[in-house]
Amino acid sequence: MAFADLGLSDPLLRAVHDSGYDVPTPIQKGAIPSVLMGKDLIGIAQTGTGKTASFVLPMIDILAEGRSRARMPRSMILEPTRELAAQVAENFEKYGKYHKLSMALLIGGVQMGDQIKALEKGVDVLIATPGRLMDLFGRGKILLTGCNLLVIDEADRMLDMGFIPDIEEICSKLPKARQTLLFSATMPPPIKKLADKFLTDPKQIEVARPASANANIEQKLLSVPGAKKRDAVRTILREDGFKNAIIFCNKKVTVRELYTSLKRSGFAVGQIHGDMDQSSRIEEFDRFKKDDINVLVASDVAARGLDVKGVSHVINFDVPWQPDDYVHRIGRTGRAGAKGIAYTLATSADAEAVGAIEKLTGHKIARVSTADAAPAEEAAAPAERPAKSEKRPRREEPKRKTEAAKKERQPELVDEGDAYRPTVEPLTADDAEPAWNGPVPSFLSFAAS
Ligand code: AMP
Repeated sequence: MAFADLGLSDPLLRAVHDSGYDVPTPIQKGAIPSVLMGKDLIGIAQTGTGKTASFVLPMIDILAEGRSRARMPRSMILEPTRELAAQVAENFEKYGKYHKLSMALLIGGVQMGDQIKALEKGVDVLIATPGRLMDLFGRGKILLTGCNLLVIDEADRMLDMGFIPDIEEICSKLPKARQTLLFSATMPPPIKKLADKFLTDPKQIEVARPASANANIEQKLLSVPGAKKRDAVRTILREDGFKNAIIFCNKKVTVRELYTSLKRSGFAVGQIHGDMDQSSRIEEFDRFKKDDINVLVASDVAARGLDVKGVSHVINFDVPWQPDDYVHRIGRTGRAGAKGIAYTLATSADAEAVGAIEKLTGHKIARVSTADAAPAEEAAAPAERPAKSEKRPRREEPKRKTEAAKKERQPELVDEGDAYRPTVEPLTADDAEPAWNGPVPSFLSFAAS
């Protein structure tokens, strides 16, 4: 089946062609015709399956007819994090380039002035995180009575972040006769309940998990004591075929510490976690996208859905607590047909978490020994001071400072070690919505009207 068979308009097909896509993905094939017919939809699909285009494309054609009115958005897309909201906005710009639709991005941390101005002018699409939307709604800046199309994206992540009550409230303020599309990687009972309550006779489409279906990702499990994990990372970052990596940690503090450690070792590294303000997060992500840095240390919430083509490696510095997060994390590599490698560093205390992941994905992760990935013992001390001739990624700093080198040799793993302690920082709305007082990057303001 080709894109042309899905019922999309010619200008949209041109925009799809310009994006370089030849054939629709399974979720696109299943969703687009139904959405164009005005049906409600449940899409059980993850990032990496092409799900964003599966709702953005038909929405553009639906919204091409009709006009927006002041403070009355015609459609709304709810996203759990600002990064995802910004990526959906980028998709609207990309696919909507031959249309004249107006868009507003309502995310926390950005000054409200511009957002309110855009709303006053009237928008066809509102892309929002629940917190900021509720805030502006409470101030009387938005009327939801003209919003006939709602997309709830990443519903299970909304649940993790405590957004479901907000979403219920938003749904109850929209017109009853509207079209609702809900996307979620999994369907835990509260999401099923939400769908039963707010969707009408929805079509349900489920597509294979990229992790189980994506044979392009080579998954490797490396047993390593907690105190040797950093050395293992350094070794992986120097292996043949390494181009760039996103390294996931379970805690923000681990992100910060690993970032500092790798930076001291001379790697071109950035970090992204929920305690950073939004402008810094987007700046770091852009540096990674533009290849200014080739290692990005990240927490789950901040990195959820990040879409960069051509990531060669994902490294799970910690085994994720939620098996679903494993699927999301490794899905950052092996995208759009490319090959990718996903390493997971596991201590002896992680056996249960690894088992849960393998049960979920139905795939036994290949155990690699120190010889395959050269971690731990032999890499330990020398890795801190690599030989001059050793092959290594690009450096940000030409030389390591002696002081920094000294510090690097001191034990740093204060909250880690072999003992696996699931003292998780809970995923809170705060994690996704820290204050942002900086300037608004251009792509985050407002699209062509
Ligand atoms: P998503 O699941 O929406 O996060 O999309 C995952 C990636 O697939 C993004 O980089 C999209 O640009 C890309 N993509 C979306 N649709 C297609 C398609 N039909 N063919 C190839 N790549 C696509």
